[in-house]
Amino acid sequence: MQAGTAIVGAGQAGAQVAASLRQLGYRLPITLIGDEAVPPYQRPPLSKAYLSSNMPREDLFLRPDEFWAKFDIQLRTQTRVTNLHLDESCIELDDGSMLGFSDLVLATGTRPRPLPIAGNDLEQIYYLRSLADAEHIRKAFAPGKKLIAIGAGYIGLECAATAVKQGMDVTVLEAQDRVLARVSGSELADIITEIHRKAGVQILLNTTATCFEGEQKVKAVTLQDGKKLPADIVVVGIGVIPNEELAQEAGIVCENGIVVDELCQTSARHVYAVGDVSHHPSALYGRNLRLESVQNAIDQGKAAAAAICEKPKPYNAVPWFWSDQYDVKLQIAGLHSGHDQVIIRKLDADCSLAIFYLKDGRLLACDAINAPAEYMVSRMLIAKGVSLDVDKLRNPDIPMKELLL
Ligand code: NAP
Repeated sequence: MQAGTAIVGAGQAGAQVAASLRQLGYRLPITLIGDEAVPPYQRPPLSKAYLSSNMPREDLFLRPDEFWAKFDIQLRTQTRVTNLHLDESCIELDDGSMLGFSDLVLATGTRPRPLPIAGNDLEQIYYLRSLADAEHIRKAFAPGKKLIAIGAGYIGLECAATAVKQGMDVTVLEAQDRVLARVSGSELADIITEIHRKAGVQILLNTTATCFEGEQKVKAVTLQDGKKLPADIVVVGIGVIPNEELAQEAGIVCENGIVVDELCQTSARHVYAVGDVSHHPSALYGRNLRLESVQNAIDQGKAAAAAICEKPKPYNAVPWFWSDQYDVKLQIAGLHSGHDQVIIRKLDADCSLAIFYLKDGRLLACDAINAPAEYMVSRMLIAKGVSLDVDKLRNPDIPMKELLL
């Protein structure tokens, strides 16, 4: 019998590959290997609901405990893969044992980018990636404490919203001249900044920290202009680094992630990469992308499983993202970079609008704030790639559906 599929990384993407393989009728052994102590879980609530409430950790798990045994998926937690021996079709585990495979999937994800400044080993300085990280931060948050969030990406802003709602004194430091610089246009950034400021969060743009001060615990953050901000807790969210080292050491082509084709195949035969770590072609955008999103993890997981089962289904999805901050539901469809036109559609409801980014009259992306119909239809319009009537797009009296006709 063939050895089956080994999946390295038990996050959203790895878990999806395992589940999809069984759904597609795959009968060989499946081993899902993760280095955390817990079964696969969803990360999005870690910086939102899980951080702000007593949400039980079991509610985060992607599948009930019995799922893995029921579908004959061997889940190995607290296990690290230390080497890929591609010529021998086996991987080496941290207990020194070897596991053979007929297909191998790398779903190793990313890790937080560290902030290499003096004092970064002080207590009460956190990064947020894992469930364990979120539990530490949740314990540390308390009314009246001073939080400094470094980085105004999703991590920094979602933590800031949670903390200020809990009665904390919150400052966000961002190196760029606007928030959400990596993921959204400046129009959305201005709106989100205003919402945070109204809620009482201080946002300092064009600002970096040069060192942390304190004895054992962090007491202050020093900025590039020498100013010191007192702090009880610091959360650093300055981006992530793809975990591509295992692949690199095995000679697999990597470039800002593990390079794959539209079937999630790497440069090595029978080796796939999925999720945040994969650098993949997008026919839709005409370039290679590395996406850090749940949608990408799920859709690539399905594509890799289909390829392993010899029912290939090229991956070419419209990327989407979401964030909840205060009572704002932010939904982003597509990627805005390269746009040459911005159209804003203001809806009746308070703080409800959609920002459309177009290039040559075609929709590239939409940032929707409390505007689910605009978001949903935008996903379809981006996939269709048709030229749009911008007057209709701007006019909230014209139902979005009409643009699909
Ligand atoms: P991010 O979205 O990449 O944002 C980090 C921001 O911090 C960037 O604007 C970055 O600017 C800035 N920065 C870098 N170095 C800095 C410094 N020394 N001082 C101040 N600012 C600095 O990353 P993230 O917020 O850490 O998120 C990590 C990952 O989690 C991402 O994959 C994100 O998509 C994911 N996540 C997603 C959600 C969601 O979708 N709702 C929620 C939570 C987390 P530069 O570009 O100049 O480096």
